[in-house]
Amino acid sequence: MVDLKSQYIKIKAEVDAGIQEVINNTQFIKGPQIKVFEENLATYLNVKHVIACANGTDALQIAMMALDLKPGDEIILPVFTYVATAEVIALLGLTPVMIDVEPDTFCIDTNKIEQKITSKTKAIVPVHLFGQCTNMDEIMRLAHKHNLYVIEDTAQALGATYEMSTEREEMRERSSSPISQFTSPISHLPTLKSQKAGTIGNIGTTSFFPSKNLGCYGDGGALFTNEDELAKKIRMICNHGQSVQYVHDLIGVNSRLDSIQAAVLNAKLPHLKSYEIARNEAANWYDELLGNHPNIIIPKRNPKSTHVFHQYTIQIRSPKFEIRNLIKEEMQKRGIPTMVYYPISLHQQNAFKAFNSLNEDFPVSDNLCQTVLSLPIHTEMTKKVVEYICKNLIEVIEKSNL
Ligand SMILES: *Cc1c(COP(=O)(O)O)cnc(C)c1O
Repeated sequence: MVDLKSQYIKIKAEVDAGIQEVINNTQFIKGPQIKVFEENLATYLNVKHVIACANGTDALQIAMMALDLKPGDEIILPVFTYVATAEVIALLGLTPVMIDVEPDTFCIDTNKIEQKITSKTKAIVPVHLFGQCTNMDEIMRLAHKHNLYVIEDTAQALGATYEMSTEREEMRERSSSPISQFTSPISHLPTLKSQKAGTIGNIGTTSFFPSKNLGCYGDGGALFTNEDELAKKIRMICNHGQSVQYVHDLIGVNSRLDSIQAAVLNAKLPHLKSYEIARNEAANWYDELLGNHPNIIIPKRNPKSTHVFHQYTIQIRSPKFEIRNLIKEEMQKRGIPTMVYYPISLHQQNAFKAFNSLNEDFPVSDNLCQTVLSLPIHTEMTKKVVEYICKNLIEVIEKSNL
């Protein structure tokens, strides 16, 4: 699905030198590489603060701790996502409130949010799934109207850009009073029309898991915010709730990016834009070769967001049940990996069934779980490889007589 080895070979000198430097100065934790990375990523994203942490799941948990979300608070999230988003909500004693997704962009269906907002609702966690932004205009409108925090799960969409259509002043008029000493939904309204994913809401979170668009060589994650006080608090929580060593003002966690991972990320960040371009090129080839096939639905581009193609996810259009799984197996036999992100919707997972006490249906998500198929996409794809994959995929589909 990805080719991290070829990618490494091209930047070997920078990566090796960075890692060697960490070993030479032996500051494996809190080395100078971390601050450099945080500053460079902040510049790339045009956000005031980047705080590195141990992984993307921690980043979500720390975001919720920093916003003082308390047991019983209801947190809105899409039902079609990676489990981490829901897991941290449940771990903190918060209540995940699941919302169905859009059939074509796979992101949370913003038309279905308002009916689920209650007096206990405190936050919305949009997930910018597969590499493009959720409808953030609508998310921010709802957040301002109902005084909710927004935590953007940007683990799959680092670098994507969203065009806000709502003007700052309009949003200010619609918004109500602040709900926290640290941050009010109105205090950091988007000042720019064009903003990076993860910098629009109160906090953005991301992951540097090796296969993510900006991946390190182990685990890593980060949080972004434009709020000074919130940034301070996040930094404290990441470091055992302390601002001064051995003085603990908050309950925190131990969650840090290590210096070797920061060195790898420092070597890779300058290439992130070209990685995004390479992924888009591959996606365009796929679009061209698969777009006209009657049994394939190619991924829809949200016109308001750029796409960084963490995944290129098609849907198999067929009345036959389980056909997607057969296609996946056939492709595997031909030596072509494909993946199903995600095979089971959150509300169908044993761990989360209890949170769907009303036994609601999420038909779009359930359907996607049966039809989606993610094809290989990464920074080293050539047109030849894409052609080979498409030729085989079309053959396999023709043979299975949909
Ligand atoms: C990868 C991912 C995470 C978790 O990141 P880790 O670094 O693996 O903890 C969270 N949310 C989404 C949407 C992801 O894809």
